[in-house]
Amino acid sequence: MDPTRSTASGLLGLLGSKAIGAEEVARAYLDRARKFDRLNVFVHIDPENVLAQAREVDRKRAANEPLGPLAGVPVAIKDLLCVNGEPTTCGSRMLRGFKPPYDATAIAKLKAADAILFGKTNMDEFAMGSSTENSVYGPTLNPWDETRIPGGSSGGSAAAVAADLAPLSLGSDTGGSIRQPASLCGVVGLKPTYGRVSRYGLIAFASSLDQIGPFAHNVADAALLLQVVSGRDANDSTSVDLPVPNYLETLEKPFDRPLRIGVVREFLGEGLDPEVEASIRAAINVFKEQGALIEEVGLPRSKYGVPAYYIVAPAECSSNLARYDGTIYGHRAADFSPVSPEEAEIPPLIRMMMASRAEGFGAEVKRRIMLGTFALSAGYADQYYNQALRVRRLIRDDFDQAFQKVDVVLGPTSPTPAFKLGERVADPLAMYLSDIFTITANLAGIPGISVPCGLTRSGLPIGLQLLAPAFAEETLLRAARLYERASDWGDRRPELL
Ligand code: GLN
Repeated sequence: MDPTRSTASGLLGLLGSKAIGAEEVARAYLDRARKFDRLNVFVHIDPENVLAQAREVDRKRAANEPLGPLAGVPVAIKDLLCVNGEPTTCGSRMLRGFKPPYDATAIAKLKAADAILFGKTNMDEFAMGSSTENSVYGPTLNPWDETRIPGGSSGGSAAAVAADLAPLSLGSDTGGSIRQPASLCGVVGLKPTYGRVSRYGLIAFASSLDQIGPFAHNVADAALLLQVVSGRDANDSTSVDLPVPNYLETLEKPFDRPLRIGVVREFLGEGLDPEVEASIRAAINVFKEQGALIEEVGLPRSKYGVPAYYIVAPAECSSNLARYDGTIYGHRAADFSPVSPEEAEIPPLIRMMMASRAEGFGAEVKRRIMLGTFALSAGYADQYYNQALRVRRLIRDDFDQAFQKVDVVLGPTSPTPAFKLGERVADPLAMYLSDIFTITANLAGIPGISVPCGLTRSGLPIGLQLLAPAFAEETLLRAARLYERASDWGDRRPELL
């Protein structure tokens, strides 16, 4: 029996019945991570530490001590979540060598659940990107086709689950960074409502948009991991004090009345890959056969989502990333001697900061900081930032109106399947448009899930996106499970040799 081919719930069953021990499971995943090192999924694994955690779970079980809901299950962690004493680098040279002195709340909750923290996963630098190519460690490869990108920015976490290098992983989603890579890697990925999961210890990109969420092989496993990390946290004042429902308990429950699904007109239009469109239409039929009521809904202002996002997110990142200047945080340039008479006029401390930031950040991060600084600069704020906030409000209004008529809305997660490595690197706008269907949920603060709904003729995964009102994760998960149960596309895995 190869435990790495299991699901998280499958593993819990095996571990609970003592058919296998946590250490044996951990060893199997460590072997597999070594075997598929070429995918460049992990940027840091400490095998001794993984094994020590597993042995502790085995010890607790042998001693009949109480065990948490993820006892012995490896969970891979996007490299922007702080883990006490472990390297946490955000895929950036800026944070090389940084070892946080504390755990993110999501990490503390995983530890309390007796999960095995299994390595840090590759990502676009500071979560800016849609392909995991903006990483100082080089790109992660898509396990379904190693000449293609896994999506991003949580590409390492998506590929980790897809390639069976961990049954579960955590990512973060600011504009699509969980749902888009989940779609492109053929796994389930969920972005919770803004405020459902504490962001404490998540290295900030855009604080009004960022959320932590799960990747898994199936909807039930995603529900389980969401359950563990959700809830109010005094360390994050934007986390919301609402009870966390038992997502697994209601997952299989049929709906009392037919589920009402709104198919988003604007998401099925021009620019959509024909194979993606065909899969989404087939998914709509699956829902119909299950008795769901389908109607078309409009989100007319969603076309302004990408422009509004590329004001709001860079504005927030220019502020959040200001702390990395080589004084207290971040890489410090060794040499900042002036190279021109003009530079000699600049005080040495400022020259040190300039050189540190020039060396520490990659091209995309610099582009975002410049965009954001410009959008916030005196005289422009009203034209750009405040205007973007007004658009954000209108996008939210569109969703509010849609959700008066339907329980969830549906569309593709990504306009295309996984593209080739390098294909969009030189074209930032093409890269930004990868998130055209996911960004609006972040602007509105609502939850979304991507579930596998097909494969292209060349064998690339396609993802179906469902979105629900704020804090309706229960409905979202039940709807996704309804689809998963009735469709042929649940839990497919690539053949890796
Ligand atoms: N691709 C989008 C960006 O580059 C979203 C990233 C994310 O969700 N972290 O900003």
